[in-house]
Amino acid sequence: MSDDNNKKTFSVIPGLNMGLFAPKDLEQILKIINKYDVPAAKITSSQRLSVLGMDKGGMDELQKELEAHIRETPENGVTYVQACPGPKWCKFGIRDSLSLGRQLEKISMGKPFKAKVKVGVAGCRMCCTEPYIRDLGIFASKKGWTLVFGGNGGNNARIGDIVETGLNDEEVLALAQKCLKVYQEEANPHSRSARFMERFGIEAFKKQVLGK
Ligand code: SF4
Repeated sequence: MSDDNNKKTFSVIPGLNMGLFAPKDLEQILKIINKYDVPAAKITSSQRLSVLGMDKGGMDELQKELEAHIRETPENGVTYVQACPGPKWCKFGIRDSLSLGRQLEKISMGKPFKAKVKVGVAGCRMCCTEPYIRDLGIFASKKGWTLVFGGNGGNNARIGDIVETGLNDEEVLALAQKCLKVYQEEANPHSRSARFMERFGIEAFKKQVLGK
């Protein structure tokens, strides 16, 4: 959960990571939100739910009430994971993006990253969750997972570098953790992965994470 104070309104973002929730949970969340006369709610581009326009007092109470419905995110983990529905619900899906997303959400690095780390996981090459412009992007093909690092969709946009292709579930998770570790250790303070990769270079990065 996070909050922002823009001097006029507050927002609360329940931890509906990957945009996934059981309908009964959504019903409960809406019931709670309705009690507080919230002027607007929004599904964010990060697949989370933002409750807008609350005053500080109301926000504190709402946060407390929502706690039971919010998934805890680990300390020193990634900022958020976007994952597509994958093969269970999408006819194009090849590999289980939701399951991989859940495992990536649980990663805890022992100390904080230098800046936000956004993750996109896609179950096929259509890349609906835009993995090429996430700090860590992963998408599936018939040959296995492809891992991309150092993308950014912001003002200074960057297409991430392909680190490795043809990975199975265990391999991609292990490589993701290695990439995050190198970024955590080597990036300058406040540097997003895109700027880090521009400075560090994909060849040096591959040497560190793949040993080649
Ligand atoms: S990335 Fe592929 S599997 Fe995932 S939602 Fe898009 S089309 Fe479906």
